[in-house]
Amino acid sequence: MTTPTNAPITQDVLTIARKLPEGGPVNLVGLTRDAMRDALIAAGTPERQAKMRVGQVWQWIYHWGVRDFDAMTNLAKDYRALLAANFTVTIPEVVSKQESADGTRKYLVRIAGGHEVETVYIPEEGRGTLCISSQVGCTLTCSFCHTGTQKLVRNLTAGEIAGQVMLARDDLEEWPVPGAPKDETRLISNVVLMGMGEPLYNFDAVRDAMKIVMDGEGMSLSRRRITLSTSGVVPEIARTAEEIGCMLAVSFHATTDEVRDRLVPINKRWNIATLLDALRAYPNLSNSERITFEYVMLKGVNDSDADARRLVHLIEGIPAKINLIPFNEWPGSPYQRSDRDRIKAFADIIFKAGYASPIRKPRGEDIMAACGQLKSATERARKSRAEIAAEAGVQGPA
Ligand code: SAH
Ligand code: SF4
Repeated sequence: MTTPTNAPITQDVLTIARKLPEGGPVNLVGLTRDAMRDALIAAGTPERQAKMRVGQVWQWIYHWGVRDFDAMTNLAKDYRALLAANFTVTIPEVVSKQESADGTRKYLVRIAGGHEVETVYIPEEGRGTLCISSQVGCTLTCSFCHTGTQKLVRNLTAGEIAGQVMLARDDLEEWPVPGAPKDETRLISNVVLMGMGEPLYNFDAVRDAMKIVMDGEGMSLSRRRITLSTSGVVPEIARTAEEIGCMLAVSFHATTDEVRDRLVPINKRWNIATLLDALRAYPNLSNSERITFEYVMLKGVNDSDADARRLVHLIEGIPAKINLIPFNEWPGSPYQRSDRDRIKAFADIIFKAGYASPIRKPRGEDIMAACGQLKSATERARKSRAEIAAEAGVQGPA
């Protein structure tokens, strides 16, 4: 337990401090507004003040980036002492940072329990995208993905997910400076849930974290600037629209069930037709809310003209953009990247059918920070061949 040394400790604060739950102070980062209210009341905040207190503390944490209760200067000293006795404002620690020749930054981030995940910042002209992780490892085993070779170690908490945006803001020095003119250009203008893990298998934490990142009294990122990428967890797709409301990307990657079963084994549970039904029903679909179809270009596997034509046919009627991702190789990966001309020919067919078909520029490859390459080097929890086979729905070795 910590109390600021310069704060007068009143009897009240001491009584309250003794209410500390077992397990030590509670981290405020990651609590929804409602949960923060309950926590402040449990620590002794009078109920009639609770809403105002949440507003104040929220702004300090998420608008100004303040972690030290003593710096929350519009709160009385006694109240700051109460907060310090019961709570912390803690985000995951950056263990190391690598910077690519193209300016991409990869952070190795340590979370509670000593596990590690990766967060990647990709600067672009006048904007920038932060790619965050939602799980350590992944339960799924997409055969072209490096994360997929690592067991699921655990889900990240909402605080650890929102905390990745906060630690990147720390590193980029992007918190507002009191009194300084408001700067409209944002270094982190977009957030994508395309790091390690399947976000829809950690739905509640991802939702709470994105609510924090979108909150207008805090980091205030528009829901249109947040993209959640899923491999196709069909039952959670409608909830994503209703409870988060962010943009959706789908790891499509194949145009027949036979190929998709091999590349994205979750297809055995929810096949292409079922997935497309869910996408068609994605509420609030409009031209400005297109679904992004991610399509990794694998030489000789899914990159033919016939594939491109099938793709266009399959997604007919869905407002869509097709993001072609040149395969990022990793040590031991079983595929090769399609040739440049092949990718261009594929893109051309899609473009002529009326869809935007940007080819994603590989970024940060020299530091293994590109899509699908993330995997913490220190994690030893590897999947066995039997587990990979089981997820892929085929008979594994005895
Ligand atoms: N689990 C989620 C989000 C994380 S993966 C999902 O699968 O959608 C983010 C994107 O990177 C997905 O589209 C994924 O298919 C793609 N990806 C994975 N491995 C890749 C690789 N080696 N090269 C290029 N893209 C890859
Ligand atoms: Fe998991 Fe996504 Fe990688 Fe598939 S592509 S193994 S769902 S992280």
